[in-house]
Amino acid sequence: MESYDKTYIVKFVFCIFIIVCFIFAFGFIFSSVIERAKPSQTLAEAYEGYVLVIDAGHGGEDAGAVAEDGTLEKDLNLEIASLIRVLCDLNGTRAVMTREDDRLLYDHYDELDDYTGHKKEYDLKNRVKIANELENPIFISVHMNKFAQTKYSGTQIYYSKNNPSSQLLARGIQNMTRAYAQPSNKRPIKQADSSIFVLNKLECPAVLVECGFISNEAELELLKTSEHQAKMSLIIFLSAISMS
Ligand SMILES: [Zn+2]
Repeated sequence: MESYDKTYIVKFVFCIFIIVCFIFAFGFIFSSVIERAKPSQTLAEAYEGYVLVIDAGHGGEDAGAVAEDGTLEKDLNLEIASLIRVLCDLNGTRAVMTREDDRLLYDHYDELDDYTGHKKEYDLKNRVKIANELENPIFISVHMNKFAQTKYSGTQIYYSKNNPSSQLLARGIQNMTRAYAQPSNKRPIKQADSSIFVLNKLECPAVLVECGFISNEAELELLKTSEHQAKMSLIIFLSAISMS
């Protein structure tokens, strides 16, 4: 009788074990099916209430690249960034500019008594900090390219590796640039390496748009026109709001 009981108990425990295993397996499969059936969160949901951070590269003591005719990168950057801001205002899109005039941002937070030798370092840190103080920022840095060989032209876009939406935004700008401004632009979008400080540090969607080469005479002339500046700002703005 005692041995019968033991066998019975062992069988009973074994059955319970199998049933528990089935419940867990079924639960796992069922939950993963449910998970797959649920629509994934849309970007609009993910970035509801987003604010565009429009970053005009360089400024003040830092002219950025200087063209053969003396045109300064920092000025072109600010022209295009300001136009993006106007489009945001017209559309009711929340936007913040990191700078609205000709200055570097090293003393934006007034952290040091003397910034000698640290101006560029604090300027870049503060651009990141301005974005990080906002809820749901989408960061767009506007720059111009320059290369020793003057034949190169075309918009080049870099994206931050820290947020998957950065690549999406970069691709959107690239596609629109090809469609509406530079049909022969073959430049692939590039993931920024650590040399691009702001994209390396930011965790939000972040891109850097090199609008064109000021070392290329024809492209420089184009970049100086208000028509082309408006076109580039519209491309960047529309890409940003359609991504969001
Ligand atoms: Zn630059």
